[in-house]
Amino acid sequence: MAEELNAGMAQNFIHDFIDEDIAPGGQYAGKQVHTRFPPEPNGYLHIGHAKAIFVDFGTAEKYGGVCNLRMDDTNPTKEDEEFVDAIQEDIHWLGYDWGDRFFYASDYFEQMYEYAVELIRKGLAYVCELTPEEFKEYRGDVNTPARSPWRDRPIEESLDLFARMRAGEFPNGKYTLRAKIDLASGNFNMRDPVIYRINHMRHHNTGDKWCIYPMYDFAHPIEDALEGITHSLCTLEFEDHRPLYDWVAENVSIPYHKPRQIEFARLGINYTVMSKRKLRQLVEEGRVSGWDDPRMPTICGLRRRGYTPAAIRAFSERNGVSKAASTVEFGFLEHCLREDLNENARRVMAVLRPVKLVITNYPAGQSETFQIENNPNRPEEGTREVSFSRELWVEAEDFLPEPVPKYKRLYPDGPECRLKGAYVIKCVGYETDENGNVTEIAAEYDPDSKGGDPADGRKIKGATLHWVDAATALDAEVRLYDNLFSDPEPDAGDKDFLDCLNPNSLEVLTGCKVEAGLAQAAVTDRFQFMRQGYFCLDSRDSKPGALVFNRAVSLKDSFKV
Ligand code: ATP
Ligand code: MG
Repeated sequence: MAEELNAGMAQNFIHDFIDEDIAPGGQYAGKQVHTRFPPEPNGYLHIGHAKAIFVDFGTAEKYGGVCNLRMDDTNPTKEDEEFVDAIQEDIHWLGYDWGDRFFYASDYFEQMYEYAVELIRKGLAYVCELTPEEFKEYRGDVNTPARSPWRDRPIEESLDLFARMRAGEFPNGKYTLRAKIDLASGNFNMRDPVIYRINHMRHHNTGDKWCIYPMYDFAHPIEDALEGITHSLCTLEFEDHRPLYDWVAENVSIPYHKPRQIEFARLGINYTVMSKRKLRQLVEEGRVSGWDDPRMPTICGLRRRGYTPAAIRAFSERNGVSKAASTVEFGFLEHCLREDLNENARRVMAVLRPVKLVITNYPAGQSETFQIENNPNRPEEGTREVSFSRELWVEAEDFLPEPVPKYKRLYPDGPECRLKGAYVIKCVGYETDENGNVTEIAAEYDPDSKGGDPADGRKIKGATLHWVDAATALDAEVRLYDNLFSDPEPDAGDKDFLDCLNPNSLEVLTGCKVEAGLAQAAVTDRFQFMRQGYFCLDSRDSKPGALVFNRAVSLKDSFKV
């Protein structure tokens, strides 16, 4: 499936590099293109990761290559098996598959340790004992090189200390292992970076086996090289780390070719945040109901909200891949969803703010059914049966006691309106409670307008309204969402993103009335509630007999492509 969807992955600068590399004489001439997606299992995937997944898996597919899924779990601090499972579920849902190429970076800890020992033996790494404060002090600046009094520690001594670090003899922070590169480098990542640190902490995969853990910059090139990755695609913040990536790959004796790191711009979207740390904070502080809260930019949140894999892939594809960082409008993501759902979602009727409409000239006790089209864009989806009787629910805003200019819906002696797929009606009166609230609308129908068109062909001046038969309607709760943040850039400058939360991001409507057929709705179904937007069942809270729907996106598209 994914192949078909990515058949059109447009040529981008990454492909230009790869074309060079696999051409005759190129460094990977004759080799299969091999990429990887390396999430750290410390949170759920978000829409930014979907872009990386699209780039990593999509590029491999384009070249008939393969893509590994690797849990980049070298830092035990916040990692958890819960996230490992969720990450796999989300990638599968997006339509990508890694086959049997699933790996844990932590499975290479032994090899990484050996490569670190190799670097010490070659005089390319040393055990340092600067305290964090000293580390800062000795860091130097653009004009001043860094310093470490431990740089010339004898190799034997470093080997001994490193072995004892592993053996657990020292507390956290007492020693580090540093690569011996260039203390005067203009690139601070090359100023003898720390490549191992002590951390007495249980790891989700290796348990208590290790109390020293490799740093990302040391681990990643080794992981890539061990797996035979040809192109290590990552985001721009790693550009400054590429010299170190190459340095490690060149200086450890992994018996494979050297992988090539290529960086592309991260995806940013306005009105949301995309850092896992911030998303985690929203969850932990109860600002949202969980990682899958439908307002979250996580894949599971978007799925629960009603997004489809096709919409997310289209969004990733159409944003393109470049070196230029940019923030995409949330409206564009919604636009991509609307395009998919307009084509594919089944149309149904639901009344979100109901008021009773009584058809006074329709016999009490009588009822009938209409066949209403499921999707005008897909005639092959046929029709469904919808019941009709004397009492209906209609939308409160479709009635006004006194019309305002240009109002074409129901008001006493107002224009004739169509009830979608049923009859033409005309409002003849209404009732209110003691506070003046409208409790009931009275209307008369034209029995010769079955299906919605009057027999005499007269023009209907009023609107076409959605409705639900009160005799068979189901009650439902409907959740309407707005942006989680009211500020388009909650991350920018020194704003506290929590101050930017939108207090009105969730509106819960109860007592909504929906077509009886929705009792059979499945969580994977997507619906267009006529005139209201696109909806799906809430996968967590909806129960048979107590339906809960989420609005995925409204109908109106203000986004200009
Ligand atoms: P975060 O900053 O959200 O915590 P991360 O980069 O630490 O993200 P990882 O799990 O390490 O998260 O990411 C796995 C891969 O996804 C990396 O290759 C990373 O570059 C990529 N990625 C993460 N966020 C984005 C984004 N917003 N756009 C594109 N790619 C991303
Ligand atoms: Mg990361």
